[in-house]
Amino acid sequence: MDLRILFLIMFGCFYTGWGEGLPVQYEELTSPELVAAVHLSGGTIVIPLGILEKHGPHLPLGTDLIHVREMVFRAVKQEFSVVFPPYYFGQIYEARHQPGTIAYSPDLVWRLLQETCDELYRNGFRKIILVNGHGGNAHFLSYFCQSQLSVRKNYAVILFKPEEDPVVEAKIKKLRATATDGHAGETETSMMLAHRPDLVHLDRCRDEPGEDRNRLSGLPYADTGIWWYARFPNHYAGDGSEAKEEIGDLILDSGAGQLAELIRILKQDDRILELQDRFYEAAGAPIQMFGVE
Ligand SMILES: [Zn+2]
Repeated sequence: MDLRILFLIMFGCFYTGWGEGLPVQYEELTSPELVAAVHLSGGTIVIPLGILEKHGPHLPLGTDLIHVREMVFRAVKQEFSVVFPPYYFGQIYEARHQPGTIAYSPDLVWRLLQETCDELYRNGFRKIILVNGHGGNAHFLSYFCQSQLSVRKNYAVILFKPEEDPVVEAKIKKLRATATDGHAGETETSMMLAHRPDLVHLDRCRDEPGEDRNRLSGLPYADTGIWWYARFPNHYAGDGSEAKEEIGDLILDSGAGQLAELIRILKQDDRILELQDRFYEAAGAPIQMFGVE
């Protein structure tokens, strides 16, 4: 074995600077380097999750994946962790009517993520951080995390939950020009301008309307799967033509800073795993364990 790698495995956590020599992308690591990366990352790994779906008439199908990976790369530059390969399997049934959507069946989407986590654990990672880049995944990923308590796991799944930074929000508010801003709108188009301007077609932003059609108005107290199609049938919410690179950088850097902090803390902090262990033990024998916290 390469002496450098052996040294990394033995002392990696004390010589974090050496991590700069390791690729952060899982698929770019050699097998011996992976062993070192598991140690250097403190057992953490990040899965950025995106999707393949229409993003208005002017952004690429993989927009969410391209954005979330950029944000994660900015984070792991600050705090080393391993980044899982492009992952575009998730909830996107509401865009099946638009060309380019790849929508796997619900049970496959679930199993793929669970087995990916299982395999990462088998390869030494114990703290799996999901970083979501796709709005349609939000409920699925929360439920996925919660469901990890249903069967004993020796690893933790952590969903990254970025928080609004009032300073960043105020700066964005000053720069923003449009009032309605959602899917493929001003903010999302700005993010692409910030790191992949070659993929933005600003001249096509108004080829289709992105206004809220509100076709289920007058139906209160109801949630239904067709709600998004009812409001935004073009799978476009807002107007991307006012996008600005500065807005994109503010969002990407703010998310990256918070994610880097989470990785840094998780490397040292084993409380999730410890509490899970206690919980699974109690859940296996609730009567015998009654009163034990
Ligand atoms: Zn998107």
